[in-house]
Amino acid sequence: MSTPIIHTMGQQAGRRSWAEPYKIKMVEPLRTTTREERERAIKEAGYNTFLLHSADVYIDLLTDSGTSAMSDRQWAGMMLGDEAYAGSANYYRLEAAIQKYYGYKYIIPTHQGRGAENLLSQSAIKPGDHVPGNMYFTTTRFHQEHAGATFHDIIIDDAHDTASAHPFKGDIDLGKLQALIDKVGADKIPYVCMAATVNMAGGQPISMANARAVRELTAKHGIKIYLDATRAVENAYFIKEREAGYADQSLEAILLEFCSYSDGATMSGKKDHLVNIGGWLATNDQELFEEARNLVVVYEGLHTYGGMAGRDMEAMAIGIEESVNVDYMRSRIGQVRYLGDLLDQWGIPFVKPVGGHAIFLDARAFYPQLTQDQFPSQTLAAELYLDSGIRAMERGIVSAGRNQVTGDHHRPKLELTRLTIPRRVYTQAHMDVVAESVQHCYEQRAKVTGLNMVYEPKYLRFFQARFERR
Ligand SMILES: *Cc1c(COP(=O)(O)O)cnc(C)c1O
Repeated sequence: MSTPIIHTMGQQAGRRSWAEPYKIKMVEPLRTTTREERERAIKEAGYNTFLLHSADVYIDLLTDSGTSAMSDRQWAGMMLGDEAYAGSANYYRLEAAIQKYYGYKYIIPTHQGRGAENLLSQSAIKPGDHVPGNMYFTTTRFHQEHAGATFHDIIIDDAHDTASAHPFKGDIDLGKLQALIDKVGADKIPYVCMAATVNMAGGQPISMANARAVRELTAKHGIKIYLDATRAVENAYFIKEREAGYADQSLEAILLEFCSYSDGATMSGKKDHLVNIGGWLATNDQELFEEARNLVVVYEGLHTYGGMAGRDMEAMAIGIEESVNVDYMRSRIGQVRYLGDLLDQWGIPFVKPVGGHAIFLDARAFYPQLTQDQFPSQTLAAELYLDSGIRAMERGIVSAGRNQVTGDHHRPKLELTRLTIPRRVYTQAHMDVVAESVQHCYEQRAKVTGLNMVYEPKYLRFFQARFERR
């Protein structure tokens, strides 16, 4: 494992910092609020940061989804929108960009990632099937279960250990995968769902060697692999930085090799592709393509727009090209790491090593006085908002939802509060403000008493659940 080249801290002589490889051409003013205003706002929002009005938020770290700043080239591309109902020129440019950078044969555009997950799940899964994955993602698992499959987490144990320094905590445990195949039979496993990076594990990457090994194992059993490619370019950067033999390879080359170990992918363009909306399903399997292309017209739109406007597809095609620029990716990952380095210096507990898109605060370590049923991660997100107007997100028992059979809470080992960094949006000074607020909440941690859930939606409850202070 080579030493990361990004240094942002310290005052050493000869120090060389990186800076963002872009400058600001347009600004969006931010509003600050008083503590009283925030008390009122978070109470009205049922202590759920998803229910806050964004106008009441100062620094918005709810998500990196669709919150990227587009480039001048992307905005220029918006003017080239060909809004023909069928066969838009922008669709063909998008298709070519995905084929070039990801290497898949057949492409179906969708309105966003979950649209692609729906098409894949409905096309590939039969009731009674089993889908293993390197940790779950909320919408991904939902669609798999909705199509009748049982999800199995086959990520390595290190992923569940917030203190483990494993460089590829997103890796799949081949023993767990083999055990599942032995137990349920290969014919009950339509595909392995392989995420790169693993969002719920803290944006942790999966290594090329692991992807290759999973390919070899599944090939023996005739099991397909579908990649959740949402942050696969960020994953490629970690491979370049950490995996032997890849330091001198371009992100393009690494991405292509990585994707070559899968049969297709679902994509939320709202992350790596630097756009505000959009997604796609890709596959090399003609039969699955035919099936999914039949379904796309039911759920999304015609197969040459899939819920996106022509201009959105154009901006996405340009964003794909920009996302594989190594200077961009160095500053992207570097900014997240900068925030992590500050928190680490101050002894704040969070998931290490720092992942690609976010810092995941360890809410159990913040609030050992709270049980999981008192929603420690949800509580920390509310406390951060109250302290400074920063908006974070719960990634713990609320996000995990309930077991559809038993009705009990899923009880994830990790109770995390996510500070997600939008791409190309905030500066290092914003990161300083965030770190200082987190530190203040950490100092105040002993006073915190947790929350009760008073309204619980049936599906993906974390979006709309409401809480009261205990
Ligand atoms: C965001 C996300 C999705 C879902 O994509 P949407 O565009 O939000 O529908 C799927 N997988 C991962 C890993 C994600 O981060």
